[in-house]
Amino acid sequence: MDVSRYFSEHVWVNSGFAADVTLQVDRGGAAGHVLSADAGSTRDAGETLGRYVVPGMTNLHSHAFQRAMAGLAERGGNDDTFWSWREVMYAFAGRVGPDDLRAIATQLYIEMLKAGYTQVCEFHYLHHQPDGTPYADPAEMSLALVDAARDAGIGLTLLPALYMTGGFDGRPLSERQRRFGHDVDGFLRLIERLRALESATFNVGIALHSLRAVPADAMRAVLEGISGMPASAASREAAQMPVHIHVAEQIGEVQDCLALRNARPVEWLLDHAPVDSRWCLVHATHMTDAETRQLAATGAVAGLCPTTEANLGDGLFPLKAYLDAGGAIGIGSDSHISVSVVEELRWLEYGQRLVTKHRNVSASSRSPSTGETLFRRALAGGASAAGGGLGDLRPGARLDLVVLDDHAPLLAGRAPPNVIDTWLFAGNASLVRDVMVAGEWHIRAFRHRDEERISARYRAVVERLAQGS
Ligand code: ZN
Repeated sequence: MDVSRYFSEHVWVNSGFAADVTLQVDRGGAAGHVLSADAGSTRDAGETLGRYVVPGMTNLHSHAFQRAMAGLAERGGNDDTFWSWREVMYAFAGRVGPDDLRAIATQLYIEMLKAGYTQVCEFHYLHHQPDGTPYADPAEMSLALVDAARDAGIGLTLLPALYMTGGFDGRPLSERQRRFGHDVDGFLRLIERLRALESATFNVGIALHSLRAVPADAMRAVLEGISGMPASAASREAAQMPVHIHVAEQIGEVQDCLALRNARPVEWLLDHAPVDSRWCLVHATHMTDAETRQLAATGAVAGLCPTTEANLGDGLFPLKAYLDAGGAIGIGSDSHISVSVVEELRWLEYGQRLVTKHRNVSASSRSPSTGETLFRRALAGGASAAGGGLGDLRPGARLDLVVLDDHAPLLAGRAPPNVIDTWLFAGNASLVRDVMVAGEWHIRAFRHRDEERISARYRAVVERLAQGS
């Protein structure tokens, strides 16, 4: 059998560090997947990696094009809210074409790899030309993202978003929303077309943009439509088709939902959709105690985006109650105001500390390390939101790993129980030295092989877009 072997003193396997581990990797049939992870082995068993090896993280929520406008909506003066930010975003979205999207996303995905993300769930709604006319190939914008992920080397879960109405009252899309729109049949055709391209590093799910953008009957029709689609040809273990939705991000959205559907958004969704572990509810910021407990019990993932939620002034997710109820979480960089595993997990905890006036809110007596608790749960939830088969270095999983920089002064005097806490809470120097996706190296010694060309192309595109042409 064609295999490669890697050795490290401390490898994160089955949700914690194990000592002296040899990873055997398939180079044949299930290429890039872990065959075995044996602790207590000897150093001469294969290529020796750095002292600390952890699984790659899934970034479960991304709108790639927004990376290019990060920093352009930080000027105050008016009554600035999510809704005023959205106007800036719409103006920017109106100028991004397929080549622009490819250039922006490739740069972004390299930044993600360097941050320790090895899979990205792209919540994609920029489908058509700015006036709403489909491109000659209706999948053109989706394919730009597929190209970008392949060129960067990151795994991609593409989630084309269904976007049909401009509000809970069913009003038509505004002029600036027209390029987002689909009918149910056109949407399902796009999904089928993209699923034919699935591979070990590319799979397709669906996104329902939000309850305000998807009428109830359309939601039912799409869920029924995808349930009839044949099983995925992708070679990832236990691949299931993910369903993502933005929900309860804003108080205004909760009030509109109450007024027009007589229920809060999470409450309504749990009553009207078969929410289970295939689902990822992005944000879910504004929930009652009952909604929090009920969502946790479904097995669905709460997709948390702490840096974006802070940047947009969304509010704080009820993390403690949700974790205590056994809820699944993952992290996403969403608007890409920050692209950092460290910052998402750090601010997830810090937001809670600031509001509860307590420390180590996410930890518990069974899981006393705050960093390990958050890292473990975000790995598992992120993997689930991407369809499974990721997020651990156990046999059968895709081999996505991050080698931490054990020469960094930050890790001096640290033993394994403190390594994740130190990485996530101390300092700002990146500890992500090498990154492998599906058994292939894409970052070595902090660098991507193609980063100069890709950043030059990104610069040219963004300079033009920023000038408004
Ligand atoms: Zn979003």
